[in-house]
Amino acid sequence: MTPSPVWHPFTQHGLGEPIPLVTHAEGAALYMQDGRRIVDAISSWWVTTHGHRNPRIMAAIAAQTQKLDQIIFAGWTHEPAEALARGLTAMLPPALTRVFYSDSGSTSVEVALKMALGFWANRGEPRHRILVLEHSYHGDTIGAMSVGARGVFNRAYAPLLFDVGTIPFPAAGHEQATLDALEAECRAGAAAFIVEPLLLGAGGMLIYSPETLATMRDICATHGVLFIADEVMTGWGRTGTLLACEQAGVVPDILCLSKGLTGGAIPLAVTLATEPIYAAHCSQDRATMFFHSSSYTANPIACAAALANLEIWRDEPVAARIADLSRRQASRLAALDHPAIGGKRQLGTVTALEIADPNGGYLSTLGPRLLGFFRERDLLLRPLGNTVYVMPPYCIDDADLDAIYAAIGDSCAMLA
Ligand code: PLP
Repeated sequence: MTPSPVWHPFTQHGLGEPIPLVTHAEGAALYMQDGRRIVDAISSWWVTTHGHRNPRIMAAIAAQTQKLDQIIFAGWTHEPAEALARGLTAMLPPALTRVFYSDSGSTSVEVALKMALGFWANRGEPRHRILVLEHSYHGDTIGAMSVGARGVFNRAYAPLLFDVGTIPFPAAGHEQATLDALEAECRAGAAAFIVEPLLLGAGGMLIYSPETLATMRDICATHGVLFIADEVMTGWGRTGTLLACEQAGVVPDILCLSKGLTGGAIPLAVTLATEPIYAAHCSQDRATMFFHSSSYTANPIACAAALANLEIWRDEPVAARIADLSRRQASRLAALDHPAIGGKRQLGTVTALEIADPNGGYLSTLGPRLLGFFRERDLLLRPLGNTVYVMPPYCIDDADLDAIYAAIGDSCAMLA
């Protein structure tokens, strides 16, 4: 066979590593062309909340394909988008009254940043500076990269990225430095502060306290700096509650959601905003409208899948499932015992640890070696450098969890 023309994301093809071919999936399992069953320990890049091919979501998609596939969303609307927006505003904090659709986590962040700058510009008080938390990740489009950590993965694109104010990560015991830096930046004037609430994902599964999140939010409110919560990864129960912000009693001015919005079945994102942000764009003047769109904004099939996700949250004991998974993860994490393992941590359904590696960092060879090791053990686990994390679908059973944690323990033998 000729080599595949497919160019994969975040993949170094030059290393010649195998690219496994998945033929079908169900629940927490992926099935390969050769019949192997792989446990999806990272919910296929953190999206699959209720398990693969959830019957209710699949049925909603199938039903929607019989009615309406796609329609321009500028100046037109359709039932799934209307019902989903109503469902989201009923389920989320009441201050978030407006729902803007897009297609991925990155675009939900782009929209949030543009809404923030549009808010200030339309009020005739232009502000441009965006504040970010050290080690953050918000996506791979230009704006999302600009507000994320800089490193080897975006060095070549640096001329395209805008300057931001970086606030030190609030590591335990160092929270005051974070709060002081934020206060100083807010005092100097900023348009918005964007954060991953409680858990920084791609930056290394770094956890900080709800108290710090609440105080950061208060500082922004005091200085009139818009507070953007990027819950693309933390949303939909990942950290133990529907939103991570809930654990800190925080309501943002702008909220980004994607990934688990459709239960992970099909791409869709939303950016929710408060009434003042919407109002700043709403006038008799066409020049103040929100200038953002993409061809597939609010695709009806994706909206129908998201509506089914909302119904699952409404009708099924999802919170109990999440609490149970969190407990089952906690006991297995606690039982892992090897001198090379450090930094064990957990927030809700997410666990993480470090495997000691003198050459740590994203390009350390330990990460790819671990990836290969886990693949041999029929597991989809994708370490971030030497940080191994587990973020499974909520339906995963004990046997699959046992297999994941046994493999993590055994992987330490590779270091010898
Ligand atoms: N924001 C956060 C916190 C994320 O974790 C991610 C993806 O992992 C994104 C944004 C980007 O989402 P997407 O990959 O769907 O563009």
